Parts: sequence; structure tokens; C-alpha cells
Amino acid sequence: PKYVYDFTEGNKDLKDLLGGKGANLAEMTNLGLPVPPGFTITTEACRRFLADGRLPDGLEDEIARHLAALEEKMGRRLGQADDPLLVSVRSGAKFSMPGMMETVLNIGLNDESVRGLAKQAGGNERFAWDSYRRLIQMFGKTVQGIDGELFDEALEELKNGRSDLDLETEDLQRLVETYKGIVRQQTGADFPADPHRQMLMAVTAVFESWNAPRAVLYRRQERIPADLGTAVNVCTMVFGNCGMDSGTGVAFTRDPGSGQQGVYGDYLQNAQGEDVVAGIRNTMPLQELERIDKRSYDELLQIMEKLENHYRDLCDIEFTIEGGKLWMLQTRVGKRTAAAAFRIAVQLVDQGLIDLDEAVTRVTGDQLAQLMFPRFDGGAAKKKIAKGMNASPGAAVGRAVFSAERAVELAAQGEAVILVRRETNPDDLAGMIAARGILTSRGGKTSHAAVVARGMGKTCVCGAEELEVSTKERRFTAPGGVVVSEGDVISIDGSSGEVFLGEVPVVASPVVEYFEGAPVGGDELVAAVDRIMTHADATRRLAVRANADNAEDAARARRFGAQGIGLCRTEHMFLGDRRQLVEDLVLAADDAERERALAALEPLQRADFTEIFTAMDGLPVTVRLIDPPLHEFLPDYTELSVKVALAGDRAGDKDRRLLAAVKRLHEQNPMLGLRGVRLGLVIPGLFAMQVRAIAAAAKAVPGTRAEIMIPLVGAVQELECVREEAVRILEETGVEAMVGTMIEVPRAALTAGQIAEAAEFFSFGTNDLTQMTWGFSRDDVEAAFFSRYLDLGVFGVSPFETLDRDGVGRLVRIAAEEGRRTRPGLKLGICGEHGGDPDSIHFCHQVGLDYVSCSPFRVPVARLEAARAAL
Ligand code: ADP
Ligand code: MG
Ligand code: MG
Repeated sequence: PKYVYDFTEGNKDLKDLLGGKGANLAEMTNLGLPVPPGFTITTEACRRFLADGRLPDGLEDEIARHLAALEEKMGRRLGQADDPLLVSVRSGAKFSMPGMMETVLNIGLNDESVRGLAKQAGGNERFAWDSYRRLIQMFGKTVQGIDGELFDEALEELKNGRSDLDLETEDLQRLVETYKGIVRQQTGADFPADPHRQMLMAVTAVFESWNAPRAVLYRRQERIPADLGTAVNVCTMVFGNCGMDSGTGVAFTRDPGSGQQGVYGDYLQNAQGEDVVAGIRNTMPLQELERIDKRSYDELLQIMEKLENHYRDLCDIEFTIEGGKLWMLQTRVGKRTAAAAFRIAVQLVDQGLIDLDEAVTRVTGDQLAQLMFPRFDGGAAKKKIAKGMNASPGAAVGRAVFSAERAVELAAQGEAVILVRRETNPDDLAGMIAARGILTSRGGKTSHAAVVARGMGKTCVCGAEELEVSTKERRFTAPGGVVVSEGDVISIDGSSGEVFLGEVPVVASPVVEYFEGAPVGGDELVAAVDRIMTHADATRRLAVRANADNAEDAARARRFGAQGIGLCRTEHMFLGDRRQLVEDLVLAADDAERERALAALEPLQRADFTEIFTAMDGLPVTVRLIDPPLHEFLPDYTELSVKVALAGDRAGDKDRRLLAAVKRLHEQNPMLGLRGVRLGLVIPGLFAMQVRAIAAAAKAVPGTRAEIMIPLVGAVQELECVREEAVRILEETGVEAMVGTMIEVPRAALTAGQIAEAAEFFSFGTNDLTQMTWGFSRDDVEAAFFSRYLDLGVFGVSPFETLDRDGVGRLVRIAAEEGRRTRPGLKLGICGEHGGDPDSIHFCHQVGLDYVSCSPFRVPVARLEAARAAL
């Protein structure tokens, strides 16, 4: 296979092979933008390397050929002593993984070529030695695995309070010697002087960094497959560190926080690469570049417009100016906040760059869910102690912690924490994941903290410069002598950048208020959500219903756009005061007593259903007959035994009988015990009472479309028995209602063809179906061993969260197909938790279900994802 592609050979659609960075470098090259020449080593080479533990055959030759061509083009050889070509070796996977993988700049420098570089730069010694010390530092850290602190400390010591700009040539020369000493001491060998060896070692290190712990963690968090591998880009160096007419910067074509069009970015004079995001000096806003170097600024703005029109989306950009000449080093479709995603999608529609279909695909259900998060109450009393940048929106309240380890520790104990750092780096990732929010005192909107937090949808305030953060003393000080120590509660507002002392109360988001029926008004975000949701509703095939057990939830679900109730559980209706009646039912000594107990329950049930049917006003309502084991309604065995024992002879007759019943009903595996349809078959009259109540309520609320659902059926015979009785009652009452079943036992899925004879609809109860297919007790396993399973990659996400397509999904597919073979037009839905999960919704669309049902709050998310699935 071909392992190496020149930048002129690739394009943006080759991300699988060239990684995102390589594909986009190629795309920019072919657009005629000023990209320093170079080539990309494919992800396939990386996969081979990771599998075999060595570079694949032929790769070195292929690299050598491309390097030779590059040298030819540039008119200088890699590391050539008197006039060196220098390159960067840059990782770049298919999905951007900020700061995760390693990049080494200035490859090709050694004791000879450093002088050649100075000559090349018109005798600029300082610049040459600055580049050299950077190479040793980066190479030592990322390629040779030396603790970066060693280099940082040596640099700090040398600076001794001075700015990096004040370092003279001699200082930097001395630093190079110190750095070489560190390398010698840490590796037992001299820093490798051979440029080709430097390059190959760096390539290998990039390949290996794919499996670095923090890369593994980031992928798991972002659900990026572990076997993609990374590409490696070898790119001619351009220098932002050779004087004040040079510099390096990052920019967005529009604000990734709000979506507003404009000039957003940071620029740093006389600096290289990571300096901008690492926060070594304070950056200047990109606008100021206009004053410093108008020609480059105008060209950059032109390029940004070209890129945005070409990619038809927000792009982020890395650029460098070398002696007044602009170079593009990277672009990609940029990450953005949820609010910006909606605003930008609609703006692009208005600009005529995309249509509404595409706009719907540009936003996700997860982003919509984020917009539905509550925010801080504007009216509440707050003590503001600082203001930083609004890096990633949301309202987060928690205890301040000052290290990633502490964040993880306290979060594991169930504490909400805010991770406070001067600035974050990739080693803080675990802490960032564990925290509710992130607060830093340094760095801009493109700092590590900001980029990673936005990607994770986590609240972040960055660059709150008034704060003095002392990680060592585990506290920060704010103006006015406010001291916040570890454990103190703070509140941070990622939408405004404000930091508050103590807990600030939170309120509903405007998007939720819109779903609740508030007018769109002048809010640009709400208007964008409205347009996208309107189009989504017109686009999707799947209907969306809600799971609701009472009139209030039913009404909210309708306001949120639910087209019916897919699961109305009836067991909640037996709780509270009504437990008494269930006890009577269980304790009934004969038919007459049982009849009496049921007769007492019936009017209550009828009233429950009447309320829900009224709230749904003619939309379909699937009522599931009682499902859980009856002992769930009875007192706890131990408590009751104690009570009876303590009472001794004075214990009431009822308590004794109750105790006996609890004992009798005890089960080793209640979830596999006497529940669902089994109850209906064992306790005469129970299901009949529920059906009578449904029928009567349906009669009382004209237009009602009730669907009676029998849970836990495994055999058509079970269903036939209860169905017969139900149909008879419906006929007697003169009410039309469908009778169907849940498919939640694997046997039901496997015999769906038979079951469909007796069922007018199926609803997949994927919670139980997952539990029984995997043999996982849902209530126990997640805490017991799922994190281990996730670590081991047994699955990438809990099968209770996202439907397991291969196993559980296969059963759903079989049941859907065979059910419809028996009864064409059989209505199919899903009512497990999966009904609100984006990936599972896409699956439901693919297998041809008619609707998904989820909790009322997830209904908008499901509407959007159902449309995305259809596009
Ligand atoms: P990341 O994926 O972390 O952004 P990059 O490969 O883009 O890593 O490189 C890190 C930094 O070095 C970026 O700021 C980038 O612009 C800069 N850089 C990379 N290659 C070159 C080069 N050939 N010349 C100048 N700067 C470079
Ligand atoms: Mg980059
Ligand atoms: Mg169930």
C-alpha cells in the first residue's frame, strides 16, 4: 500500500487515511493557500506499526523518497549544516484530540545546523538558539519521555523573573547545554544529532502516543474508536519566533461560544507553536494584528472567509507569520458550544450556504439537551468575586479543588467539585471529566481548558486573571482579600464568565421555556432552535411519545411535542395510601375478600386514567398493566418481623398474616419471578380490574385512543389468556382499544411471529430485554463492574445507556421482522430508556419502528435525533 501522501495528493475527504490535520492541510494546499510544503504518513502505517511493533516494510524508503522531493522543492536538505531544512513532525488523527498527541518542531537542528539556521536568518543567532532549545525540550519530553518539568524548571531558573523575550543568545546557548545535560542524564545517551534519526524517532513516537494513557482516556470519554490510529504530518518549518515582525496565532471564523460572526482569535508576537495556547505570555486579540501587520491581517481575513465558504461551516485555524509572510498551519471545522451550533446552522442557512436539512444534521440531540440545562437565577443574591472568559456555557456549583487527583477523589465520593487551576494541561483530563466545572486563571478561549471543556460540554470559565491560584496551598485569592480554600463552595457561570462565592440558585433555560410554550420572541438562540425543530418535525418518520404516569407529566410531554404516551406504568398508582388496598388484595382469604379489595382499587384506577386520557386529548396512550412483583408494595420483611417480635403476644392478627405473606412472596430473583403477565394469570381479577378501569375512563373521555399493554410475555399462550379476558371486557363496555404486548423477554423476541397472532402492537421494553439478554442485573452490575468492563473495552458504553445493536438489537430486528410477517402493519415502538438515547433512536429508525418513547424532558432530543436519523 501507499503509506505516504504529499500535501498536494490528499484532500479533506481522506480523513480516515490522512487524519483530520493531514486531510485539511492537503485541502488548503489544493485551494492555493500558503501552506508550508510537506507530506502525510497514513493512519494505516500507524495501525501496522501498532500491530507489529515495528515500522512496516517499505515505509522508511517511502518517507525517504518524499523527503528527497521536499528537499528538492525547498532547495535545502534536512539538517544541512550551512543551510538546513527543518520540519515539524505532527500527529493528526481522524478526530481532533486537542493536546492529546505529540508534535515536535524544529527537527533537523544540531550543533552545526543551528549555525546554518542563524545564517539563513540573516545572522539572527538568538532565533536559531531559541529554536534549538525548543527542539531538545520538545523532543526530550515527547519522544524520549523525559519529565517536562525538568526542562521547564531549567528555563524558569534561567529567566529568573525575566520574560522569555529578554533571553539573550548566550542565555539560550547556555540553556541548550543544560538541556543536553538533562537528556544525557535521563537517557544515558547524547541528544541525537542526526536529523534523519530525529525525524524517524519522532514519527515512531507519534505512532506510539496513540496509546498514551491520556489519549486512551480522551477517546473513551468522546467515544472515539480505539483502533483508528493516527497519521503523521511532516511539514516544512516556518518561524514565528524570529523577531517582532513574526508571530503565531489561532483564530475562528466566528465566535465558537456564541456563533457571532466577526474576528475571533489570539496572536502572539515573536513566538512559536504552542506558546499561544500554553499561556507563556499574554496574547493579544487578533484585531490588533491589523495595526502591527495590516497586509498579513487582510490576507488572513480573506483566507478565513474563503475557508468558511469552502467548508460551509465555522473553521478554526492555526497560522504563523514569518517576517511579514503569512503561513497557514492548520484548519478544521471547529468545535463550538451547543448554543453556537444552533445559531451557526441557522445563520448558514440564511447566508445560503446550506439548506435546512443540512442545518438539522449540524446540531445534535446532546447539544439540544445541553441547552436545556438550567442556569443561574439572575435575581438571586450573589457575591461575585471575579470574572474570566466565558469559555464553555452552563451553570456549575461545587467545591473548589486544586488538582485533578483531588477532583477525581471527591467526585467518587459523590461531591460536586469545580476544578481550579492556573491553567490545565492534558494530565488534568481525568479531573476535568470528574468536575462539574473548570476554572482557570490563565489562558484564553483557545486554551487547553477552554477547548477540552467545550468538547465535553462542561462548564468552564478561563483566564480569570484576578485570581491568584496556589495549587500547592490548595486555595486561591480573589480581589478584596477573599480566600477560597479546598472544599469551599463556588459557582461559575460559563455563559458570562462570572465566578461567585458560595452556592447560587439555578433557574430553567429559555429553551425549556420555549418548549413549555413561551413565545419565540427576540432571542436569537430560541429562534434558531424553533426553526430547526420545526424542520426536524417535518422531516422525521419516527413518531415520538413519552413515558408518563400522571396527568402532569403527560401535559408536559405534550407541550414538549410528544405525540402520545408510549408507556404509562400503573404500578405507581398503587403506592402511598393505596398500599393498604394492595395489602388487602394480597391477604385476601377467599374470592370475596379479593373481589372487595379489587373493587376498592378500581375507581381509583379509573380516576387516574381519566386524568391522563384527558391530558392527552385523543393522542394514543399505551397503558401497561401492573408489572412488578407484589411484595414491592408490602412492608419490608425485616422491619415487619421486628415489629411483630417486639409486639409479642400483642401483635395484631393482620401484622402476623402480613408477615406470613411477605415471607411467602419472597423471591431469590424477583426480576425473574412472579411479575408481569404472570401476576395476571395467577391473581384472578387483577388485570380484569385494570382493563375495566381503562375501558371506563376511555368511555368517559371521548376520542381516547387507549392501548393496553401486557408486560413480560414470553409465550403467545400467556398473551392469549389475558387478551381473551381483556377483549371481552372491552366488548362489554363498547370501547375500542388495542391490546398488545411488551417484547422484553428474549423468548418473546424469538417467537415474535407467534406472539403477533395475539398482539396488535409490540413495544420493546429494552431495559428488561438488555438485562435478560446479557444476564445483567441492572440494579447491581453498573456499580459492581461496569467501569472495569469499560476499561477493558468489553463495551464502549453501558448497554443500558445505548442499545447494544449486535445482541439486543438483533433480537429487536428479529421480532420486528417476524412480527410484521405475521401481522403486516403491526405497530412497533420502544419504551425503554433507550428511547431517548441518540444512537439508539437512529437504530430504531433503521429497523423500521413506528415510534420511540422516552421521558418527557428527552422528547425534544428524540424529535431532533429522529429527524437526523432520517436524513
Ligand atoms: P496540535 O494538534 O496540538 O495543534 P500541531 O501539530 O498543530 O499540534 O502543532 C503544534 C503547534 O506547532 C501548533 O501551534 C502549530 O501551529 C505549530 N506548528 C506545527 N507545525 C509547524 C511548522 N511546520 N511550522 C511552524 N509551526 C508549526
Ligand atoms: Mg494544531
Ligand atoms: Mg420491563
